[in-house]
Amino acid sequence: MKIGFIGLGIMGKPMAKNLLKAGHEIVCFDLNKASVDEVIAAGATTAATSAEVASQCPMVITMLPNSPHVKAAVMGAKGVLEGAKEGTILVDMSSIAPLASQEIAKACEAKKVRMLDAPVSGGEPKAIDGSLAIMVGGDKALFEEVYDILMVMGGTAVHCGPVGAGNTTKLANQIIVALNIAAVSEAFTLVKKAGVDPHLVFDAIKGGLAGSTVMNAKAPMMMDSNFKPGFKIDLHIKDLSNAMDTGHGIGSPLPLTAAVREMMETLHADGFGQDDHSALARYYAKVSGTKIGD
Ligand code: NAD
Repeated sequence: MKIGFIGLGIMGKPMAKNLLKAGHEIVCFDLNKASVDEVIAAGATTAATSAEVASQCPMVITMLPNSPHVKAAVMGAKGVLEGAKEGTILVDMSSIAPLASQEIAKACEAKKVRMLDAPVSGGEPKAIDGSLAIMVGGDKALFEEVYDILMVMGGTAVHCGPVGAGNTTKLANQIIVALNIAAVSEAFTLVKKAGVDPHLVFDAIKGGLAGSTVMNAKAPMMMDSNFKPGFKIDLHIKDLSNAMDTGHGIGSPLPLTAAVREMMETLHADGFGQDDHSALARYYAKVSGTKIGD
């Protein structure tokens, strides 16, 4: 199938490349020319604007930072909706506010464009090996229509409900990941300060109840003081802010989310917003005077 792919960052690039490897034609677009060139080198073509991408493709995927970027690329000048024909499928795989997904879906409906919100979890490694966890909101029949294409990029794709439900699910995912990283940072700083080797603590507890995918991925980064992203602190602040806006809107308080968000804001203010979210360990280094890594 000829698929438009808009947003070729840490995640979008490997996802687009996997679609190429599976035999799909890709027409790609990003504001960053170097990223476009890299995906062209892998076999894609490009177009001058998101509208031109959409005019060439029956299906368009967006993988952009946040709600304003998706609104600009879809509803803005020279956006997808300017170029899309009736019946075009838009799958927004960005992590954005559920209310923004619903607003974009309404604008799509007015142009007879069919839309799903389909954010992902798993980070760059799973984007590269095509095993992302994909959580989808929108029409169930449309989900079934694009399922095989989603499964080129994902290891699972679950239909969670109407438009917005994919991003509501993603907010839950991001709360659980952030709090888990904070817990690992707090606990590993404690053991280091108490004089116990964090590597031995990791080996001792990873097979028990405290073990987690998050700990397996992030504790080694903390022990190596390697905070190359991965998933950036600034993007996680965006997700936790979206979670808190959503929670406040429906009367569902998020006290732990608020605390970890403020830790991340501290890191942003200290100039670490582009670090991986495992850099929460830096917050604990600041307040305890002890680094987990050597
Ligand atoms: P990124 O910052 O690496 O890439 C975003 C890309 O979008 C950039 O290349 C930027 O130039 C492009 N862009 C921005 N506005 C644009 C526009 N109007 N038109 C065209 N291109 C535009 O971000 P990423 O890490 O790839 O994340 C993308 C989305 O996936 C985010 O919503 C993020 O929260 C989510 N996500 C990221 C990860 C991760 O580990 N990085 C994991 C799961 C989900």
